[in-house]
Amino acid sequence: MNMKNESLWNSYLESSKKELKEDISCDVLIIGGGLSGLLTAYYLKDSNLQVTVVERNKIGSGITSKMTGKVTLLQDILSKISDKDIELYIKSQIEGLNLLKKNIEENKLDCDFFKNVSYLFTTKKSNQKKLEKIKNIFEKLKLDIKEENLNLHNIKVKYALKMENAYEINPIKYLNEIRKLLTNVNIYEKVNVLEIIKEKGIFTVKTSNNLKIIAKKIVFATNYPYFLKPLFFPLKVRMEKSYIGYGDTSLELKERFNAINIDKDKYSLRFYKNKMLYLRESRIISSKVNDEKGFLKIENDVVLKNINNLWSNEDIVTNDNLPIIGMVSDGMYILTGYNAWGILSSHIGSLMIANMIKKRKKYLKYQELFSPKMKLSLKKFLNSSLNIYESINGYLKGIITKNKLILYSRDKAIYVADNGYCYLVKRKCPHLKCNLIFNSVEKTWDCPCHGSRFDLEGNVIAGPSKYDIKVKSVK
Ligand SMILES: Cc1cc2nc3c(=O)[nH]c(=O)nc-3n(C[C@H](O)[C@H](O)[C@H](O)COP(=O)(O)OP(=O)(O)OC[C@H]3O[C@@H](n4cnc5c(N)ncnc54)[C@H](O)[C@@H]3O)c2cc1C
Repeated sequence: MNMKNESLWNSYLESSKKELKEDISCDVLIIGGGLSGLLTAYYLKDSNLQVTVVERNKIGSGITSKMTGKVTLLQDILSKISDKDIELYIKSQIEGLNLLKKNIEENKLDCDFFKNVSYLFTTKKSNQKKLEKIKNIFEKLKLDIKEENLNLHNIKVKYALKMENAYEINPIKYLNEIRKLLTNVNIYEKVNVLEIIKEKGIFTVKTSNNLKIIAKKIVFATNYPYFLKPLFFPLKVRMEKSYIGYGDTSLELKERFNAINIDKDKYSLRFYKNKMLYLRESRIISSKVNDEKGFLKIENDVVLKNINNLWSNEDIVTNDNLPIIGMVSDGMYILTGYNAWGILSSHIGSLMIANMIKKRKKYLKYQELFSPKMKLSLKKFLNSSLNIYESINGYLKGIITKNKLILYSRDKAIYVADNGYCYLVKRKCPHLKCNLIFNSVEKTWDCPCHGSRFDLEGNVIAGPSKYDIKVKSVK
């Protein structure tokens, strides 16, 4: 069988034929058609507001289409959230879970949503205390949790917590079902927002197809927002990249489960249709991130055999490991920064944003916790600046990669594909001019600074860049 270098969920992506052909106006414009964007539209659909969603590619094709689809309160980031914030964060996730279940049950959504059990584990004795602390907090909140032996063969588990109340989902089937419910919402694909101008309290949005959308309110559901001010995102968040494989497994499936560890050497697994989704190597994006090494970790691991799909994904990591949800400035809202746990946070986040727009007070108890005007951590800021400096510097000189198919120079690169086509690209990322690196498994040009990604034709498919890159292809 041929291995596909794309996400397992890509085959479920659907396209709409509805095109934006003329200038339009609406009450609320939602930019981005992933979980955050579509769910915000869902929670606004019963208001009297005219809601429009625009998406630069296909609905769901961003980070959402490349996730693993685990639904659990036992998240690895719990070990990084401060003592002060952790209880409220867990409560937000419980509410997110209730919202997700309600949507699925009330609307009878077909999205392969199954109950399973969830494990949070460590492979290091020294990290056991962190898990014991999480166990105490769960017990204080009267959540059912226990210590359990977990046998993952060659992954040497030292200590594990188990929860019964966990789930798994096909994120794209879920999104497709939500989309069907948005009958009174205008959804346009292939609309890339380039510029937003605010005058007298009204937004004029300019798109890549030279059209204008006039809106009273704007919701940024773009994952990485591409505006700099007022939040100065590149200084406050970093992008984390991980590698995922889907295939047969040597693990015995005695029960449906998902599992993730809290250690630096990351393992995350879940099952889908009796095969396993296996994630390795979560690393903050910099030039030190080595795609080949990441993919090899999956390919060489004995727990995964006969790999059907192999891909990478990236999400925003915030300084305090908490989501960023709220109002940016008058009439402008944002929801992002889920630290690779977006299913539950996007539910609570989109309901919060919808309620803010509808001027309802419900769920505002998380407003401060998730505030976009979040704190700068000097240490993390310095780390990410050094990463950027190092990644720009590291790629100034021309290098020839191992397989000799990619030739980099100071500002150009050439990739020679198997079919003999040569792709010549200007390798400066349009976002902040970092040099792009070729990801030879997924055949994308990836930015080592802030995670923008471009396909072989040069179309932007992820990250903060709002522009494509120029590509010349010759045979
Ligand atoms: C490796 C990995 C595994 C994960 N696994 C899980 C998991 O098991 N469980 C879980 O809960 N979470 C998981 N997540 C997190 C989850 O995938 C994300 O947090 C979530 O999908 C983010 O959804 P979103 O709608 O905010 O972003 P996206 O899905 O990226 O949607 C944003 C959309 O905005 C569009 N866009 C961007 N700019 C523009 C523009 N200028 N104009 C128009 N459109 C634009 C993009 O094309 C994109 O489709 C994982 C993340 C990673 C990286």
